[in-house]
Amino acid sequence: MDRLKGRVAVITGACSGIGLGTVELFVAEGARVLAADIQDDKGAALAARFDGQVVYRHCDVLQEADIEGAMQAAVDAFGRLDILFNNAGAGGSPETIAEMTGAAWDFSQDLLLRSVALGIRYAIPHMKAVGGGSIVNTASIAGTQAGAGPIAYSVAKAAVMHLTRCAAAELGRDGIRVNAICPGLILTEIFTPAERVPEGLARMIKDSMRQNAHNAQPIAKPGLPEDIARACLFFASDDSAFVTGTSLLVDGGMHTGARHAWDPEARAERQKSADERRMAWEAAQAEDA
Ligand code: NDP
Repeated sequence: MDRLKGRVAVITGACSGIGLGTVELFVAEGARVLAADIQDDKGAALAARFDGQVVYRHCDVLQEADIEGAMQAAVDAFGRLDILFNNAGAGGSPETIAEMTGAAWDFSQDLLLRSVALGIRYAIPHMKAVGGGSIVNTASIAGTQAGAGPIAYSVAKAAVMHLTRCAAAELGRDGIRVNAICPGLILTEIFTPAERVPEGLARMIKDSMRQNAHNAQPIAKPGLPEDIARACLFFASDDSAFVTGTSLLVDGGMHTGARHAWDPEARAERQKSADERRMAWEAAQAEDA
């Protein structure tokens, strides 16, 4: 409790999933929050729920003026800016590299990478004014390996990690720390946006995500928004005062490697097929002899 007492945060993508979980945790820890999103109805409800501690502002992170406006709105509402969680995002363009167009590529990079760069850019003067701050960017496990997301998404998320390092190097002397979180599979609305996916289908997709998580990682369940919120609290608070320029995987161990590395059943299957190959080879040798 109170680890963010007196601090003011801007959180983008604040009305759903990881952003919403982080608003809830930050408020519980004493922060005041400027919640930025494009879901205005949910934003109004969020501000009403945390009356006085959360102010909602429409902010489309594809729009530079909206990003600048959100930082200023935090200062106007609460008098300062200490923390920025650059988190808004979506799956972006689904095209493979063979199908890619310039427009599809630019859309993903603008949504997932340019938005983060501009968030940092417009937080700087406000953070300098209070002697420093902490910026946390949402990257992804998709930025660390191929195949965990569409190619334009994965490349943008990889670039978010490098942006994090470069910005941390430039801003350390101003007392501004910059870190990133790489979530693995987190149960949120990102896979089932309400306006496009009917409720029944959304339930099916979430069930299959649970199964996927079971098969994809040592901690056999999907992550929850609060798992990422707690990592964000670490970076936002003084607990990480000596940490900057780093990217933290919060993924249930998905990155550790192939399934047989951690699943005894998969290891047994692999062993069985190795044994079969060896027996076939020995039988062939015996026949030749
Ligand atoms: P959600 O869809 O639950 O939340 C994202 C929020 O951002 C939504 O409210 C969404 O609105 C909003 N948003 C989308 N586009 C914009 C925009 N242009 N400007 C402002 N807000 C926007 O998804 P998550 O919580 O899962 O995603 C949060 C971040 O986490 C994203 O950056 C995502 O890439 C990243 N991530 C998520 C993972 C996961 O497994 N869930 C894994 C790795 C990374 P709307 O619903 O209208 O689009």
